Amino acid sequence: MSLLTDRTAVVTGGAQGIGYAIAELFAAEGAHVVLGDLDGDAAARAAEKLGGIGVRCDVTKASDVDALLAAAEDTFSPVDVLVNNAGITRDATLRTMTEDQFDQVINVHLKGSWNGVRTAAAIMRERSRGSIVNISSLSGKVGMVGQTNYSAAKAGIVGLTKAAAKELAHHGVRVNAIQPGLIRTAMTEAMPAKVWDQKMAEIPMRRAGEVGEIASVALFLASDLSSYMTGTVLEVTGGRFM
Ligand code: NDP
Repeated sequence: MSLLTDRTAVVTGGAQGIGYAIAELFAAEGAHVVLGDLDGDAAARAAEKLGGIGVRCDVTKASDVDALLAAAEDTFSPVDVLVNNAGITRDATLRTMTEDQFDQVINVHLKGSWNGVRTAAAIMRERSRGSIVNISSLSGKVGMVGQTNYSAAKAGIVGLTKAAAKELAHHGVRVNAIQPGLIRTAMTEAMPAKVWDQKMAEIPMRRAGEVGEIASVALFLASDLSSYMTGTVLEVTGGRFM
């Protein structure tokens, strides 16, 4: 028996990067996977490889998130696992960051995760089961230069996770968060070499993480292996800023 046999798992921002790696591992553990992404074609192509479905979804729009979870239910069964993973960066110092860059990042990460938590919770509560995994960031724990928008959003996800965990625990629904450190993806490979090297120097394990190393922790939180855990924030950082 695999860890997610016949469970329906929805991953936002699942067409690539950490989200895709999570979906890939979930599918290997028997889950029906549903990928939501801004790029609907990329989501469909990625999902096809995993025997799942891909849906165009902008997580900042509650109606898109509702439609994503409805598509999961129509094709497979009501959602058992939701991973709120979709993300963007719009880095700039306070001197240069525009209001629009602030709003965009808060909207995608914080409002997007809230949209997912709210809709999934309504479905999961009815069935007295479910696990929601929110992807925060180490940036939300310590604050990073040039990321007042992103750090605020990722810290906000921690508050959202804990408040929702308290509201939903007695309904059998668990809500946890992951704070990845430096993980090798398209998002981080866009970083200037100097910034990358600075970050590497801060990591006790002396290497960046791989997407599979976030996926395995997401699997732990999604599955019954973590059945007595809710409201937790797991740092997956190679020991950085422990
Ligand atoms: P990627 O950029 O590789 O993937 C992010 C995905 O989210 C993309 O497919 C993107 O689609 C999608 N997306 C963006 N905006 C939206 C939206 N409004 N609605 C739906 N989907 C959207 O990033 P990562 O895999 O690196 O990051 C995944 C998560 O992990 C993010 O939340 C990120 O903040 C977090 N994280 C990553 C770290 C790292 O080191 N990589 C460290 C800490 C946290 P498209 O490409 O079409 O825009």
